[in-house]
Amino acid sequence: MSSLFPALADAPGERIALRFGERSLTYGELAGAAGALAARLRGAGRVAVWATPELETAVAVTGVLLAGAAAVPLNPKSGGKELAHIVSDSAPQLVLAAPGAELPEALGTLARIDVDASARTGAVPDDTAGDEDPALIVYTSGTTGPPKGAVLPRRALATTLDALADAWRWTADDVLVHGLPLFHVHGLVLGVLGPLRRGGAVRHLGRFSPEGVARELNAGATMLFGVPTMYHRIAEALPEDPGLAKALTRARLLVSGSAALPVHDHERIAAATGRRVIERYGMTETLMNTSVRADGEPRAGTVGVPLPGVELRLVEEDGTPVTAYDGESVGEIQVRGPNLFTEYLNRPDATAAAFTADGFFRTGDMAVLEPDGYVRIVGRKATDLIKSGGYKIGAGEIENALLEHPGVREAAVTGEPDADLGERIVAWIVPADAQAPPAAEELADHVARRLAPHKRPRVVRYLDALPRNDMGKIMKRALADV
Ligand code: ATP
Ligand code: MG
Repeated sequence: MSSLFPALADAPGERIALRFGERSLTYGELAGAAGALAARLRGAGRVAVWATPELETAVAVTGVLLAGAAAVPLNPKSGGKELAHIVSDSAPQLVLAAPGAELPEALGTLARIDVDASARTGAVPDDTAGDEDPALIVYTSGTTGPPKGAVLPRRALATTLDALADAWRWTADDVLVHGLPLFHVHGLVLGVLGPLRRGGAVRHLGRFSPEGVARELNAGATMLFGVPTMYHRIAEALPEDPGLAKALTRARLLVSGSAALPVHDHERIAAATGRRVIERYGMTETLMNTSVRADGEPRAGTVGVPLPGVELRLVEEDGTPVTAYDGESVGEIQVRGPNLFTEYLNRPDATAAAFTADGFFRTGDMAVLEPDGYVRIVGRKATDLIKSGGYKIGAGEIENALLEHPGVREAAVTGEPDADLGERIVAWIVPADAQAPPAAEELADHVARRLAPHKRPRVVRYLDALPRNDMGKIMKRALADV
């Protein structure tokens, strides 16, 4: 296969590729450092990467891919039990880490190589790996169950990044502001490998902050990739910070993904900046499936259209395809295309269950099609579709309605068994003011007025914070145990 990173050999050597805080590498320097690492890794199969948000992680993954091996990114915030599971499941030969990084006991048995981001001795080796060779083994977020290792071939990475380049007109001139962790598809594949494949630049904030975003946009960055919790923080900061609004208007693209962006945050950012965040929809297993295109119309609550090469269909529970572009008929999203993973590592059962006979991947996400072909995600089949009183109700629209109430800071909606209704709607609320939470009755009326009487929450429970994972996703599984 042609190289995953043609720009490493072709881009002007002095062009900046990566900047993390004060430290940066040009394309020439990255070729030297990642090439040197790749030379040490020749013949390796799987290599774990201790994926701290540092320059070394980007060099490590680039080096592993240049060597034709597969990288297994590890979340440094994972607990020992989860790390032990990932290490025994993926059986890497060694672990790469930044010098000085302290590795937990769960990795004690692995040989370690410290990544030297200042090495300049290497060169980009000839790419001998095949299209179907694994490039990454990424563990899913564990939102709905124990994380599974998705085996992503080189073909899937190349395909998805080139499809995004088409949709977003992403070029070597783009400079990305990045504040995401590096152990998942969003931060690693889109946020690091994406710019490197294009020959553009990444500026990683280390730790996300609205001020950091404003600083980088003012310094010439063109794109921001974030998860909804980041856009929420931006939306909250905007009224106090006119400089932030001005900086955001400079961005060519503001992109959100990994979970649904609440409509309220989308609208607040649009009102303050005149710019609309665009959403893209992807998964660890499929990389990116849909996006609002750079020249398309961004609309709150929608994730745009299928990317080039992605076949997408909605299917009802009994297998009937949903063909109505009416914004109402709900079906499970199934996708097929060169962006897909090959298998869940060591889980032939889960792999087989995930695919249909004709090779579509069952995403477990439910959606409707708008008249113009935009996909609107309703929620996950397992946790966000509430069957109440003969209706199928999506949790997302109720959450969006609750978030519009000034007394609500965070909201999650679930279904609970109910003798009369089948399931009853439960709203979990983090009040804006803990001393004066809005009354349950008031919130239920607020939802019923905006949506419909049958979407009225029957129970309201108040919390100090919602349980979220390291990507900021709400862990609905954990809500039941609160
Ligand atoms: P697990 O599979 O381990 O339970 P997870 O599904 O959260 O965890 P990921 O692969 O990181 O793990 O996330 C993919 C999911 O994130 C999608 O299936 C979808 O539910 C959600 N998602 C991603 N982007 C969007 C978006 N723009 N809007 C709504 N949901 C999204
Ligand atoms: Mg999933």
